[in-house]
Amino acid sequence: LPLPPVDDYSGGLPTPVPAPRPSNPAPQKQAQDFNFGKSLGEGSYSTVIAATDRQSLKEYAIKVLDKHHITKEKKVKYVHIEKETLVRLGDHPGIIQLYYTFQDAQSLYFVLEIAPNGELLSLIKRLGSLDLACTCYYGAELLDAIEYMHSKGIIHRDIKPENILLNKDMHILVTDFGTAKIIDYPEGLDYSPESQDCRAKSFVGTAEYVSPELLTQKYAGKMADIWAYGCVLYQMVAGRPPFKAANEYQTFQKIVKLRFSYPPGFPIGLRDLIKQILVLDPAKRLPISKIKQHQFLSSISWDRDALWNSTPPKLA
Ligand code: ATP
Repeated sequence: LPLPPVDDYSGGLPTPVPAPRPSNPAPQKQAQDFNFGKSLGEGSYSTVIAATDRQSLKEYAIKVLDKHHITKEKKVKYVHIEKETLVRLGDHPGIIQLYYTFQDAQSLYFVLEIAPNGELLSLIKRLGSLDLACTCYYGAELLDAIEYMHSKGIIHRDIKPENILLNKDMHILVTDFGTAKIIDYPEGLDYSPESQDCRAKSFVGTAEYVSPELLTQKYAGKMADIWAYGCVLYQMVAGRPPFKAANEYQTFQKIVKLRFSYPPGFPIGLRDLIKQILVLDPAKRLPISKIKQHQFLSSISWDRDALWNSTPPKLA
């Protein structure tokens, strides 16, 4: 795809390309090809609007980014990363699909798969917490999505319930790849060597889910996503993340000291799993292959098609 190297931000905003799916090359779309409906939400640099393809009548979520604002705020890099990662991760059912991108004089448009059931965070807030069947099921879907990203050389770096959306059938869709890290590139592309390591020059992610190694060593590799995964599993059942304080500094203190506790009644099996994930040393943190074998997830069939084609448990 005619994308500039991710670490070369001198080249301006991304070139519009049809995304890789559907497999027959799609004609270039434009804003006029869609009927724009209600706003689905606002980000710091974007507005997401529900839209219908005038021809196919298929519904999408179109993320509209203001070019002037992105350039002024020096966020071009993040737009490139978001686009490139979504293109690379285009064929996993648990990762938001990017169908088309295009631009006009003012805006960039990302035509995304729509997630009509909102964020996992809202669901947890609405219900207070998830029951064990849902925690196990959504925990399995999230783990499978993370495993896939990592297999494609992508570290998400901002896994949290706000970035986990729900599709019409209540399966999860991981989104928000703007702060992702691409750690290995396909052969033949000349990417700069410094982009291959996992040192983070500045804090990325969200305070409550940030890994201890990022705070103490400015390093966030694949295991940082596993740390955040442990925080999300805890939050599904406890209703709040394990490390939360009045301000970011105090939250960071709790994280580096591994200071957290389980609310009364927190299930023993899940406690055992989380204890092995929320481990300060990333080398000692339970890897995905072992998490999949843990007793808490023993009811899960890890065959990808079987997992994503099964019906999620009813929300209680
Ligand atoms: P920020 O850029 O500040 O980190 P953000 O990542 O939430 O914020 P957007 O990705 O622009 O910003 O999303 C804005 C809102 O739109 C969010 O509330 C999100 O839940 C919603 N949204 C994003 N993508 C979709 C989608 N594909 N389907 C439905 N809603 C979406």
